[in-house]
Amino acid sequence: MDWVPGILALWFNDRFLGIEWHTWKVIGWIGNILFFSRFLVQWYATERRKQVVIPQAFWWLSLSGSLVLLSYAVYRRDSVFIAGQAFSWIPYLRNLWIHRRNKAARNVCIRCSAASSHTYRFCPQCGQSLVPESASGQ
Ligand SMILES: [Zn+2]
Repeated sequence: MDWVPGILALWFNDRFLGIEWHTWKVIGWIGNILFFSRFLVQWYATERRKQVVIPQAFWWLSLSGSLVLLSYAVYRRDSVFIAGQAFSWIPYLRNLWIHRRNKAARNVCIRCSAASSHTYRFCPQCGQSLVPESASGQ
């Protein structure tokens, strides 16, 4: 039971963790959580594929986190914070656009259904030719 005073210390003087909570504080923390979670998503994707990968979810979390943080910064009228978030959405949107364009231009292998770049001539999974026979010159 010696952990009880530690738990009670989290809530002290109507503050949790020493922070006075209100709606905008919650919005700011949601922005922080969204923005931070992009690193976890990117790390997981990289460990899973054993190569550096930046999944589309990374850019969505970056965009949503930065917009929520921007709204909090505007509420706080903090020029440094506003300047830091005001233009970060531009590369996030650009990278989402590029993801979308690349996804639309992918080939799907007729043998194994693996998706690959439209520039590949052979499936990287099974070696199936991705070039239509009429275009291969045979
Ligand atoms: Zn294949």
